[in-house]
Amino acid sequence: MEKEGQYFYHPLENIEDIDLFYDAVERQHLTRAVSPERPYTYWTIELYDQKNGIRGGGGLGILAADTRRIAEQMGVPFALITPFYPSETKQKLVGEKVENEHLPVKYTDFGFRFIDNVFVKCCGNLCQLDVIEKKFKNTRIIAITEPNFGELYSGLSGSDHRLYQEVALGFGGYAALKLIGLKPAIIQLNEVATFFAALARLDELTSNGMDFYEAMVYTRKHTLYTNHTLVQAAEAEFSKEQFERFVVPNLKSLAVKKWLHDKFENGRLKLSSATIEIAELRSGVSKLHAKVANYHDLAGNKVKFRAITNGIDLTTWALPDILEYYRELNLIDELNLPVANYAENLEKLTTERVRELKKIGRTKLNQILKNRPDQNGKILQFADDDFIFDFKRRFVDYKRPDLPFKNLQQLRKILEKRNAHYILTGRVHTGDEKMSEKLRQILETVAGDEYLREHVHYIANYDELLAYGLSVGANVAINLPTVGLEACGTSWMKDVANLNLLISTHDGGVADASINSYLNVSGTDEAEELDMLYRRMEEAILAWENDFDLEYLLKKQLTAYLPIISGARMLNDYLDYLFPK
Ligand SMILES: *Cc1c(COP(=O)(O)O)cnc(C)c1O
Repeated sequence: MEKEGQYFYHPLENIEDIDLFYDAVERQHLTRAVSPERPYTYWTIELYDQKNGIRGGGGLGILAADTRRIAEQMGVPFALITPFYPSETKQKLVGEKVENEHLPVKYTDFGFRFIDNVFVKCCGNLCQLDVIEKKFKNTRIIAITEPNFGELYSGLSGSDHRLYQEVALGFGGYAALKLIGLKPAIIQLNEVATFFAALARLDELTSNGMDFYEAMVYTRKHTLYTNHTLVQAAEAEFSKEQFERFVVPNLKSLAVKKWLHDKFENGRLKLSSATIEIAELRSGVSKLHAKVANYHDLAGNKVKFRAITNGIDLTTWALPDILEYYRELNLIDELNLPVANYAENLEKLTTERVRELKKIGRTKLNQILKNRPDQNGKILQFADDDFIFDFKRRFVDYKRPDLPFKNLQQLRKILEKRNAHYILTGRVHTGDEKMSEKLRQILETVAGDEYLREHVHYIANYDELLAYGLSVGANVAINLPTVGLEACGTSWMKDVANLNLLISTHDGGVADASINSYLNVSGTDEAEELDMLYRRMEEAILAWENDFDLEYLLKKQLTAYLPIISGARMLNDYLDYLFPK
């Protein structure tokens, strides 16, 4: 049963702009395709939503949580299917070494309700999975769990345990949907670890009497594969023998088994290859990424990805006072979409207000830092006019957290001039010895310098709250991925939303706009980039001391990026792609 128009909340009487009106009407038409019984389904191995008890590892999970919240605001019937991991890791610094602490998590503490059990067949056993659910207004989280499910990304990629988790999510999640009485209008696969959801659907259609080719066409037309990885070679693969133990027992249709069998090359299967075959709709997460992602189908043809740049939920990530200011300036509508003439309206932004708002953000940051000591065990509290650079992102090599420390004298000179602070935070992947060592080296060098020891701070256990605190409370954000390696990145979006100046290399979603939109770092080699980074840091300090410059840079930055960072824009782009008019 479809009640047309009911599920896209957009109060028409408030709309003066005629384009907005037609936009809203058109959006309502999409409800023909999605309805509460046929929701948009979003599959993800990682969800980062601490409020709901699920802690992810990074950007992939943050994106998933934001997407659901935006669907909620836009009134889109939406079901997110994900594992609930009964254990999570917390990182702390012991000396200069990162250590992991494993903490149990109970879903009943976070408002999830037990629905029933579903079963998947693995290695000759029937594995019992709990289906749990948390319902919101028009969205819900459906999770699959059991006491031995393990942690997110536990075990090696390509290991039995990972395959088990992925099979449990795909087949178990699909069974859970049926149990609840939902049919997917669309299956969005947030990366290939969720491939088995589409396979479960294909198998169900085929084993219920639909002709295999018809079922394949149907599944393909309703499946969207969202790729976040640049190189296919880096993707996980599994052996035929692993599939025979974990996957094949869950398939009913002989035709599907045969189809799957043909996807193996030399006894191994890359999930990405099979996902490309089962999803006709494919997207990459920024313009640059969609262009450079180097994927080939089994026939050897290069795969085309539609560029749908990630966005963030502004309601979650912008300081409420800043969001309020955006509305006052008439930059965004009630769904956080930039209005047509937002760039013109930005003219009225004043640095006086920006400085007031950043003061409120600074207070918030101080609150958050009360429980988060730095590497010296010191609780940091910053005055309104303290100057803060932040570098907050997963501690992985291509993001280059160590780059700013390559010329310590220079870094010290810049910070000294303004008595500025540099806050560094980021989680090291469990088992990543190389990055763990890099962090130790940074801390050791910093400790050896009397000035830097007091002005460079590492905060352990990077999480959503710290990301928020630094976005609202810092002055300048630093983002330095090696160009070509960042798919999109969303942490810089949080900084742009909160009126920080952005220093960045031209990569990921940053490269959706022109190189002049922010304080760009580039060069023909790392030494040149480093040189430019330091110059940009000095420039950023000066800009915050000069209203004219600050206003100019912030307006330029927001003009370029407000539509890009808007998560409502992202979900609209997905809806336009999935349900073309
Ligand atoms: C925003 C956020 C991320 C995503 O960062 P990227 O720039 O996409 O890598 C990762 N972890 C946390 C805790 C975040 O808040």
